[in-house]
Amino acid sequence: MRKTKAPHVTTLPNRETERIGAPVEVRRHPAARRLTLRVSRTRRAVIVTLPVQCGIEEAGSFLHRNLDWVRERLDSLPEPIPFRDGILVPLRGVTHRIVMPGEMPRRRVVRRIDGHPFPQLQAPGEVIAAVRRLEQWFSEEARRDLAERVAWHADRLGVKPSRLSIRDQTSRWGSCSTTGALSFSWRLVLAPPAVLDYVAAHEVAHLREMNHGLRFWSLVRQTCPAMDEAKHWLRLYGMDLHRYGVQTSA
Ligand SMILES: [Zn+2]
Repeated sequence: MRKTKAPHVTTLPNRETERIGAPVEVRRHPAARRLTLRVSRTRRAVIVTLPVQCGIEEAGSFLHRNLDWVRERLDSLPEPIPFRDGILVPLRGVTHRIVMPGEMPRRRVVRRIDGHPFPQLQAPGEVIAAVRRLEQWFSEEARRDLAERVAWHADRLGVKPSRLSIRDQTSRWGSCSTTGALSFSWRLVLAPPAVLDYVAAHEVAHLREMNHGLRFWSLVRQTCPAMDEAKHWLRLYGMDLHRYGVQTSA
């Protein structure tokens, strides 16, 4: 939930991606002193950071020297769960089953319907359209919940955000810009409501304190007394939320 300066990003040719089974990003970073390698758990991507004076071919050979390590890391990641007929997905912390009944002449929207043992999210249309509708639907649900909780906390802390946007950001749950624009990950709507509420409170509190100092945390606690439980939940299960709705090339 902090801002970082974006490095220059390029990607390695497709044959590297095929060899490794994951996208490879090369980042040239002015502050980088040496070549480094990491595997992003949330995006299932390999990231090579390169000092500016190094050529791109050095990234490739560095990667090959560490191929075993990279494969091991990728293998240890939890399986992604793309939106498909029959999968189970949490919504506000409650397990739902996604149902894709195919074309339904008069139905074009996602509906939540009761079902046993799980309530269902029915997404009509052929698969690609149904997946797109679901993605949009989750994003709209997230927006509705977050708009409501942001307004509530903003009112309590006497601030007003300039904008609220919902994104598929993977590096953080929410962010607050210097212009007062808040943005959040749609995946928060998968988590129990208290977790979404905490992230909303956290970003709203940044409108008063643009740091993570003591005054900041006491503001968060003031408007969200249950923040410790929510932070704990995110530490334990947050990574799991990144598995859902990820499109795999397979
Ligand atoms: Zn923060």
